Amino acid sequence: MSSEPSAPSSRPAPAGTAADPLDVVILGSGCAGLTAAVYAARANLRPLLVDGHEAGGQLSMTTEVENFPGFPKGILGPELIHEMRQQAARFGTEFRSGAATAADLSRRPFRITVDGHPVHSRTLIIASGASARMLGVESERRLLGHGVSTCATCDGFFFRDKDLLVVGGGDSAMEEANFLTKFARRVTVVHRRRGLRASKIMQDRARRNPKIVFILGAVVEEVLGRDKVEGVRILDLEADQRTDLKVDGMFVAIGHVPNTRIFEGQIEMDKSGYIVTKGGSHTSVAGVFAAGDCQDHVYRQAITAAGSGCMAAIDAERFLEAEGH
Ligand code: NAP
Repeated sequence: MSSEPSAPSSRPAPAGTAADPLDVVILGSGCAGLTAAVYAARANLRPLLVDGHEAGGQLSMTTEVENFPGFPKGILGPELIHEMRQQAARFGTEFRSGAATAADLSRRPFRITVDGHPVHSRTLIIASGASARMLGVESERRLLGHGVSTCATCDGFFFRDKDLLVVGGGDSAMEEANFLTKFARRVTVVHRRRGLRASKIMQDRARRNPKIVFILGAVVEEVLGRDKVEGVRILDLEADQRTDLKVDGMFVAIGHVPNTRIFEGQIEMDKSGYIVTKGGSHTSVAGVFAAGDCQDHVYRQAITAAGSGCMAAIDAERFLEAEGH
């Protein structure tokens, strides 16, 4: 069922069954998926775009995007995604909310299960992105949204004059910590090693910020609090000593994991689960293309995701053409 206006078409829409498959299914509604949809729709392939678990992807959890060309004054992440979605809809993309829960790539047409319903397609563009990595402690999961967050730009505002914790030692952690000092009284960065992974410029910026303090060589063992975060239990790895620290919120910034689990064993991936692409967006399975953060742990930018989404749509179009469709 389409949730957005679709462009009128003279052809009857394919059913998405094994006998009458779609031309293109796109998994993911972030920058990569939406750009693929714009291109595939303009090529009259009538793509079906499946939103995924986090509609709009990571950009929808950002505030100002200052480095997307064409917006000299910057643009809000959710607004940029909204505009891309409108653009994809204008050319006839069909949108489906929900997520792909299974896929069979062993034969064509490919069979993708979207919220329990099978959809068949001649080509598949995987643009399922990456999600924030979590520490994995039970209390963290329980208090997610109740003081535990993975997005400072989304939730920082709620912590005015509070004491906060940021976990991680990379650029994201430094960026989140710096950003949070706009609101918080104090931000403590906890990192498992004595050395930070972050680039020098980001480290220097954080170290110069008088509101940021560092606890290095330590891990968060537990988040304290019943219904909301009230503190954290920190284990000093060298001294093997535990300390409870009172904080009102914990921001986890320890990297991302690609959303590729349903393709495990069916498509070539690297050891971290990122899909391997070659010669543009081609994957190890003919007819399956990948774009955006699910196949890129190096650049991870909105503009590179968009660019790879464009490549995937063009590759899918050429594949269909070569197959005589
Ligand atoms: P990252 O560079 O992979 O850093 C992840 C950090 O989390 C590392 O310090 C790592 O510790 C730690 N970590 C990982 N798993 C952990 C666990 N289970 N428990 C505790 N700590 C854990 O990820 P990122 O910071 O998200 O950055 C990703 C990429 O985006 C990088 O290339 C980065 O440069 C880029 N980026 C750039 C900017 C910018 O320039 N403005 C901003 C954000 C991100 P170890 O160090 O011990 O491995």
